[in-house]
Amino acid sequence: MTDTTDNDTSGAKEPKQGLHPRNRFRTRYDFAQLTKACPALAAFVSPNAHGDESVDYANPAAVLALNQALLKQAYGLQHWEVPPGHLYPPIPGRSDYIHHLADLLSGGTTPPKGRCVRILDIGTGANCIYPIIGASEYGWRFVSTETDPTACRWARKLVVSNKGLSPLIEVRTQTSLNECFKGVVKPGEVFAASMCNPPFHSSAAEAAASSQRKVHHLSGKKPLEPALNFGGKNGELWCEGGELGFVRRMIAQSAEIPGTCRWFTSLVSKSAHLQPLQRYLRQAGAAEVKVIDMAQGQKKSRVLAWTFLTHAEG
Ligand code: SAH
Repeated sequence: MTDTTDNDTSGAKEPKQGLHPRNRFRTRYDFAQLTKACPALAAFVSPNAHGDESVDYANPAAVLALNQALLKQAYGLQHWEVPPGHLYPPIPGRSDYIHHLADLLSGGTTPPKGRCVRILDIGTGANCIYPIIGASEYGWRFVSTETDPTACRWARKLVVSNKGLSPLIEVRTQTSLNECFKGVVKPGEVFAASMCNPPFHSSAAEAAASSQRKVHHLSGKKPLEPALNFGGKNGELWCEGGELGFVRRMIAQSAEIPGTCRWFTSLVSKSAHLQPLQRYLRQAGAAEVKVIDMAQGQKKSRVLAWTFLTHAEG
């Protein structure tokens, strides 16, 4: 699970460094247009230290209003909200994964579009953000899986309350925290790709400490209590073995059903995790492995992609 905010405290330089060329959130936010799309945002817009219009990214209500405005302006999304305590995803960063996935599937040519492209989103969260962006940008069809019952309920609510999403996004409950595919993928079902933003930390205490550091970094204030201020329920933020453990389990389980996805993919937040994961992939017999670098300003991340099929592209 990567950072929960844009970390855009600098006044959104133009264009945002490192984002995918098709990312429509690359350019500086036009707050006049955004507040037109979502009037509630106006209350949170004020000049930052550089004199540019911005919002306080440490304030969950501000991030919620910004996300609502971005999704409404870009995709006409009428309803987007997450229950208190769940993740407020940075929309530009989440979009990047979708665009890089499109490039992976096309081999860098014209991005594939339409409902014949089926994607499995493992751990969709209450925000259902990858399916919302993938369905809105490319018309892809998603199966979204989730272990947290509240997140599942919420993701389903988002899908039915936005016209056009219901035929493209199906949310399935995963009852086992340790399974990625079993119990949610039906026999014979195939996908162009799977994607995942895995829980990052290996314990609740580690997740809380990291969240405190983030709030401190964004607001310059020391949080009074170990609240996960701008989102992130325990299950969203940590799992047994942290990111490394989660992706390792995913690799082992993907090798048992190699033909289910043309490409299996996952975000890897920590660069030190790449080497061991690439080793597991070799041991698991992957035919091809790719590391797709992503950056948003200073923040670096990457998508690890693997396939058991030869000539998986195109
Ligand atoms: N995709 C969202 C949420 C990522 S947080 C985003 O990018 O913002 C990771 C999510 O994975 C959490 O919602 C957590 O509940 C869920 N999760 C954890 N283990 C899972 C599993 N084995 N299968 C499906 N979802 C899982």
